[in-house]
Amino acid sequence: MKHLRNGETRREFLKQTTLAATALAGIEPWWAAGREASARSTAALPWYRRTLRWGQTNITEIDPTRYDLAWWRQHWKRTQTQGIVVNAGGLVAYYPSAVPLHRPAEHLGGRDLFGELCRAAHEDGVVVFARMDSNRAREEFQRAHPDWFAVDATGKPHKAGELFLTCVNGPYYDEHIPAILREIVERYHPEGFTDNSWSGLGRGTICYCENCRKKFHERSGKDIPRGQDWNDPGYREWIRWNYDRRLEIWDLNNRTTKAAGGPDCIWAGMNSGSVSGQCQSFRDYKEICRRAEIIMLDHQARSDSSGFQHNGEAGKLIHGLLGWDKLIPESMAMYQAGRPTFRLASKPEPEARMWMLDGIAGGLQPWWHHVGAYHEDRRMYRTAEPVYRWHQDHDQFLVNRQPIASVGVVWSQQNTDFFGRDDADVLVELPWRGVTQALIRARIPYLPVHADHVDRDAGQFPVLVLPNVGAMSDAQVASVRRSVERGGGLLATGESTRRNEWGDLRPDFALADLFGAHVADPRRAGDEARRKSNASDTAHTYLRLSPERRARVDGPQTGSEPAVQGERHEVLRGFEETDLLPFGGVLEPLRVDAGAQVLATFVPAFPIYPPETAWMREPKTDIPGLILNTTAAGGRIVFLPADLDRRFGRDNLPDHGNLLADLVRWAAQDDLPLSVEGAGLIDCHVYHQPGRVILHLVNLTSAGTWRQPVHELIPVGPLQVRVKLPADVRGQRVRLLTSGKTVAASLTAGWGRFEVKSILDHEVVVIG
Ligand SMILES: [Zn+2]
Repeated sequence: MKHLRNGETRREFLKQTTLAATALAGIEPWWAAGREASARSTAALPWYRRTLRWGQTNITEIDPTRYDLAWWRQHWKRTQTQGIVVNAGGLVAYYPSAVPLHRPAEHLGGRDLFGELCRAAHEDGVVVFARMDSNRAREEFQRAHPDWFAVDATGKPHKAGELFLTCVNGPYYDEHIPAILREIVERYHPEGFTDNSWSGLGRGTICYCENCRKKFHERSGKDIPRGQDWNDPGYREWIRWNYDRRLEIWDLNNRTTKAAGGPDCIWAGMNSGSVSGQCQSFRDYKEICRRAEIIMLDHQARSDSSGFQHNGEAGKLIHGLLGWDKLIPESMAMYQAGRPTFRLASKPEPEARMWMLDGIAGGLQPWWHHVGAYHEDRRMYRTAEPVYRWHQDHDQFLVNRQPIASVGVVWSQQNTDFFGRDDADVLVELPWRGVTQALIRARIPYLPVHADHVDRDAGQFPVLVLPNVGAMSDAQVASVRRSVERGGGLLATGESTRRNEWGDLRPDFALADLFGAHVADPRRAGDEARRKSNASDTAHTYLRLSPERRARVDGPQTGSEPAVQGERHEVLRGFEETDLLPFGGVLEPLRVDAGAQVLATFVPAFPIYPPETAWMREPKTDIPGLILNTTAAGGRIVFLPADLDRRFGRDNLPDHGNLLADLVRWAAQDDLPLSVEGAGLIDCHVYHQPGRVILHLVNLTSAGTWRQPVHELIPVGPLQVRVKLPADVRGQRVRLLTSGKTVAASLTAGWGRFEVKSILDHEVVVIG
């Protein structure tokens, strides 16, 4: 409230407030500079490049009897929603369809609900993605076209509950779905299409229908494999064939919708935020992103083990394939999605909000999602609005930006498939999670790098990380080698480069010369069962740091053991008070090159229980757990046979996370773009736009961080932040987009330094 000050006339007061208002309207503050120009250039873009806020009321079959269109239109307005996803056809039709066997929703009752929604959205200036759900049907459909459906080896149909599963190789996908797409385009002109289950049967179910048998034989001269056998060339070919077929469906649907609706009438399917999920569904992310104009991401909630930070990472991983100029809206559940799921109950607001905010930090666009059009738990309608309003106020900073990071973490779907095989969670995902969690915890910005893009991307990173990337092709290995030859750093763990692209063992690590370490006994390495149990189990083992520092320590002396002296390597700083680290894994002997330094050796398992037996039987071996090497070009290489990445991903011991972060810092020669000091778990993302740096700080510090859902948010701060400034950023002015404050920055040698006093959920800092 403004009050008249003593002696101030009403006329003077009005004059002053008017002047202030004119100043606000006429002069843009520096942090909003370019907003109008950006709005003008945005208007010229196709709809899939400019629709930044999405919503979806996922229509159930009862909803045609109770869909309150006026209320939902208000909800689109309240949330500043620019695009909606509307159920159209596939499993059931939400409009009167003329396509044979395209069954109307049970309670449609002649209503053209899809048509009404489409018209209302277009009247309101909201774009429409018509949503399909195309991989199952009722019994009458299956009886009419039994050859369109998937069957097992005995000819029995594959079913999900009462519904029959369609086969991706049959006319259901080649004729039926395209006919529906054409009908919807011609009648309603939606801007584009998504599809919830377009990729059909997953990897766990093999179809033996006539279409599959015939097509696979034409391609390979082989029969459909009898079962899952990763060593069988026929099974491997079946996997590749399945991936290729999904790309054919992607292309066919896009040809169909564009032919009917014009070049911008795209079909975008839906994809997962989980690489393993994409593998299980035969969706080749790299190839899909090469084709896609937009990725519609169905990734609605977190798991306890991967946390909110998985959402920011998903954004960065997919943008790495798709480009940073395209959009990735993500379906964000407003209902209690996760474990357990309650479709009609609100997701606790802090949980829903943090999932949204971490996704936005990773470059995703928000897409609220309700299942059903009527809810008695109305709290879910309040969740999106504040986040969407904040998003609208600041969206110029949230798109069209280039990430800044020091660490490229290498991944590929082929590694998840052919190295991970049936144990991708333990062999691929846990090592990945351990490394990335160690980086997030240390506030070291990283980006996922596809193994086929190392040549393209590695130049921007002082260090690459191979987190147990066991399966790599010769070409991928050669690109990592080129990065190191240019002076780049490398941290490789576990079995990295040990196998080719099919997961077949090489005689030695393909980068053994860089690691400074070689397989000592190739015969032992082929023992898959032992390898698997070593990865899955936790043994009572340790790592002995070297050299040991027993002389003049403050602790009991045995009198019998030699006191070894010598300087520890700088990467072991912080461990001065210990000669041992808890480990848990099992290591095999390696042959170490003369020039390489072994900083930790393996202590084999000994009993934990009863305590009387808990003493080391073999206190010392020469089996290496951590090896450092340097190259002629000055590159620093860390090879970590000890699976501290997997251990940290699973066991969360701070020693493992600290050592991983310190190894990355050493290999990066401390060339990092960011430093954030202050307590808490904070997910940091740095971006560059012309003339400014944008820093997201997402506060993941909560009692519910590793146990969903979050009940309440806990503020952190103050944080002392230092950001390395690109040449075109002056860095004197710092604006905090969440708290709305402007803070002063000090500049030293190309770094901007400032304080963020407090963060409840997130802060976005614009440094101009
Ligand atoms: Zn089939």
